[in-house]
Amino acid sequence: MIINLQLTDLQSEYAVPNLLKTMTNWFMLTDEDFSIKQVNAAFLKSMGGTAKLWQDVPITEVLSPEHWNRYKPVIKRLAINTTESYETRVQTTRDLAYLLFVVTPLYKRLWVGGRRNRAGYVFVGTDLTQYKASQERMQAYANDLEVSNEALERFAYIASHDLKEPIRNIGNFAQLLRRHLAKGSEAELSEYLGFIEDSVDGMNQLVEAVMAISRLGQEALDLQEVDVQAMLQDVQERLEKRIAETDARLIYKGLPTVTADLQLLRQLFQNLIDNALKYNQSSDPVVEISAEYVEQTRSFRFRIIDNGIGIEPNYREQIFEMFKRLHSRSSYPGTGIGLAICRRIVELHGGQIWVEDRKEQTGSVFVVELPDNS
Ligand code: ADP
Repeated sequence: MIINLQLTDLQSEYAVPNLLKTMTNWFMLTDEDFSIKQVNAAFLKSMGGTAKLWQDVPITEVLSPEHWNRYKPVIKRLAINTTESYETRVQTTRDLAYLLFVVTPLYKRLWVGGRRNRAGYVFVGTDLTQYKASQERMQAYANDLEVSNEALERFAYIASHDLKEPIRNIGNFAQLLRRHLAKGSEAELSEYLGFIEDSVDGMNQLVEAVMAISRLGQEALDLQEVDVQAMLQDVQERLEKRIAETDARLIYKGLPTVTADLQLLRQLFQNLIDNALKYNQSSDPVVEISAEYVEQTRSFRFRIIDNGIGIEPNYREQIFEMFKRLHSRSSYPGTGIGLAICRRIVELHGGQIWVEDRKEQTGSVFVVELPDNS
């Protein structure tokens, strides 16, 4: 059996030109050296020009050469009645599109079981740009979900772990109470009751802290112009008791006005200054708050600098995790949630918070960077 199929036959068929005109896929017909001989309307719509202009243009003008060079030998080896598909990026007149090409070889003359005489190739391309973009978006959502699931799991673990301690204490002291009640000795009962009350307080604080952090971000930010200098005066008044107890000095002047949620920003600075005073054993505690404008990132960079006990470089990231504490409750009271709240507030404002080295001096430097939204 002999099948005669000329390159020109395909072009002159009545049905084929009509099909090529209406199909939404790209169509390219090339000769055996991959020079374009014919393209369709869908191709021209994306690539511009006219069919005549594309006549005899090498395919590497359409397909990026380095990608094409990898596929060319594969396509050249294509057997009769087989196709090869490959995905590639193509620079169209609009964008860098993502196309899936199916390539089929054409033969001038085909003897079954005889010599093969290759005439050219047909490229049919499907534009996958939108599909790829939505696939990437889905992947990004999936990644986000995984991250937040992990955070949730870690949080659930830590929450249950930390809540167990006061619960265990309550159980132990209740048992002791029962034993002493049975023996009829009442001397230690009030002490045990005191421990039970402390543990209940501890649990309450933890539960309130967990609720506080879960509430953050549930409501939209109430953005307004916040005069940080004036806001810090307010914070200073709120921390008056601790400042007086430690005879500390708070230094801040000339701070800018930023666009932020006043309540949250006040809580942020209050937590940081409270820590700067708490984790401080200096005979002359000083907390300094400064600000600079970073042109490169168009943001305000605040520094909260203290001359306290400092933070080991290894722990400078961990301390922002919920319930992460570097000290026992007996040496420094606290729940380990303050800095987690700080990070959340800063992130809600699109900023960043980190601990900086204080070089040779003792103490800590917390840096808060907030974007300039004005
Ligand atoms: P809390 O103060 O309730 O323990 P935080 O989340 O505010 O919880 O702080 C976490 C830990 O980070 C603290 O336990 C403390 O060890 C350390 N830390 C925070 N601020 C400072 C600071 N200014 N100087 C030294 N250590 C600090």
